[in-house]
This record gives sequence, C-alpha cells and structure tokens, in this order.
Amino acid sequence: AKQTHGCSYAIFETSRDSDPATHITLEPELWEALRQEQFVLFYQPRIDLRTGKIIGAEALMRWRHPERGLVQPDEFIPVAEKTGLIVPMGYWAIHQAGQDMRRFRDAGFRYGSIGVNLSFRQFKDEFLARTIRRIIDKNEIDPTRLEFELTESALFADETHVQSCLKELSELGIDFSLDDFGTGYSSFALLQKLPISTLKIDKSFVGGVNSSKDDEEIVRAVINLAHNLNKKVIAEGVENKAQLEFLIRHECDQVQGYFFSPPVPVEDFMRMLRNN
Ligand code: C2E
Ligand code: CA
Ligand code: CA
Ligand code: CA
Repeated sequence: AKQTHGCSYAIFETSRDSDPATHITLEPELWEALRQEQFVLFYQPRIDLRTGKIIGAEALMRWRHPERGLVQPDEFIPVAEKTGLIVPMGYWAIHQAGQDMRRFRDAGFRYGSIGVNLSFRQFKDEFLARTIRRIIDKNEIDPTRLEFELTESALFADETHVQSCLKELSELGIDFSLDDFGTGYSSFALLQKLPISTLKIDKSFVGGVNSSKDDEEIVRAVINLAHNLNKKVIAEGVENKAQLEFLIRHECDQVQGYFFSPPVPVEDFMRMLRNN
C-alpha cells in the first residue's frame, strides 16, 4: 500500500489493501458515488522544459464525498481495483476528460495532451478498446490529444490482450505513457514492442535528486534510456528548484509536480491555460 501524502487524510486507515470488511462497506458507496456523479477530475499541469509552458495535464480522480469532503484516490482506487469497480469508474474518467477537453478547445486554449490513468485491472475487460472507441466517438474527443498512463503491471496482465488493445487505440492516434517507471519490472523487449511514447520517472527517484547519488543515477539513466529508444521522458513529483535544475541539465523533456502546481479543479486549470 502507498503512503498517504500531505494533504490527504487516512479515513480508511486500517483498511488499505488487506481488510475485506472495508471493501464490503466501501463497494456500495462507490457504486452510489458513480451513480450520483460524486467523482471529479482534477488536473495537474505538465510543463515543457524547452518552452517553460504548460503543454498538458494529468487527470486525477477525486471523490467529493457528501460527508467526508474531498477524498484522495489512495483511499478508494485500491478498493475500486479489487472489486472491479475501476472498470466503470475508468470509463467515467475518460468520458469526463473528453468533456473537459471540449471546454479547453471551445475556449481556444492550446495544449498538447491530457493524460488519463488506466489501471491494470481495466485490461481484464475484454471490451476495453471497443468501449474506449465508443466514448471517443460519442464525446467527439480528439484522440490525438488523449494519452493513457499505464503502469508496468498492466503490461503483464495478459500480454496479447494488452498488445492488441494498445495497438488498436494507438492507431486512433492515442499516445501511451508508462507510469511510475523504474518501480516495476519492465522488459526492454516489451518497451520496444508496445506503442509507448513516453516514460514517466517515478516520483520516488525524482524526490532523491540532490540527496541520493543512486536516485540521481537512476533518473539520468531513465532519461538516456528514453531518448535512446526515441521516447519522451517526464519527471513527476518535482517539488523544488534544485530538482528542476537537475532535470533541465540532463535534458528531461517535461516535468510535473508541486513545484509548479498540485492537481487543481478544472476551472483553475483553465485559468492557467489562459495565462499560458
Ligand atoms: P499516479 O498516477 O502516479 O499520479 C501521481 C500522483 O502524484 C498524484 O497523486 C499526484 O497528486 C501526486 N503528485 C503530483 N505532484 C507531486 C509532488 O510534487 N510530490 C508528491 N509527493 N506527489 C505529487 P493522487 O492524485 O493522490 O493519485 C494517486 C494515484 O491514484 C495515482 O498515482 C494513480 O495511480 C491513482 N489514480 C488517480 N486517479 C486515477 C484514475 O482516474 N484512474 C486510475 N486507474 N487511477 C487513478
Ligand atoms: Ca499517472
Ligand atoms: Ca506516477
Ligand atoms: Ca503511482
């Protein structure tokens, strides 16, 4: 289980991944939340280091709970994954990102792409690619502005199914990035074989820049690996200027992190795009 970060509070502290009782109580609540549209997407800007401008964002889910207030994903995504609810929730996220992207377009904003997280669990859905295509059509989403972030665990769920999904969706112009890179098991063969255009360096390594030589070596190695494979590289979890300067010096392409902005409501993100 992951640690709760600063601005979150551990409501289901004792639960985490192991206690089945919490899943039982939380599952109907999550269904209800989906039905009542209590989920929202926040956006965390991504900055292009060559221009210093925002070139997109990652969409991150929050739960506006009627009593508990804003609930962070670490408190409910693991349960959603365990129960399979992440499948409909994931479709909702793509749909909502599509609606928001329409607003960005209608406002005339220029941006690169919006990243939506796809859980390994969503690949257990045999209709994944087809359903995503339907959501794209129905919401008139520009697939070339849509990007999916997957973790290495997703790639191993069912290799052939994952490969065919990625292939089908990438033919629409959707990009894929590999999230939390460095924390899982990546085979270089798979990296080459799959249509993955970007590596996202996990924030645990970025956090060690300027304090841990090992982390610095890893960050440099991932940047070089990405570039040698003709992929882009994004550092996530950039929290201070020293980390930023290290990343600029080593020619990282993009950054994302609290140093620039935490994930914010869509209106706030639109304000940032307006001033971009
Ligand atoms: P992730 O995909 O690795 O998302 C990055 C997380 O790092 C986000 O946490 C973000 O708020 C946080 N972060 C950003 N900048 C910084 C920084 O400078 N320092 C630190 N310490 N953290 C930073 P968040 O929003 O709490 O999301 C946690 C995880 O929940 C995500 O990790 C992702 O795995 C999952 N998640 C969130 N939304 C969705 C979703 O719509 N679908 C799926 N499948 N998973 C989601
Ligand atoms: Ca992500
Ligand atoms: Ca990540
Ligand atoms: Ca993560």
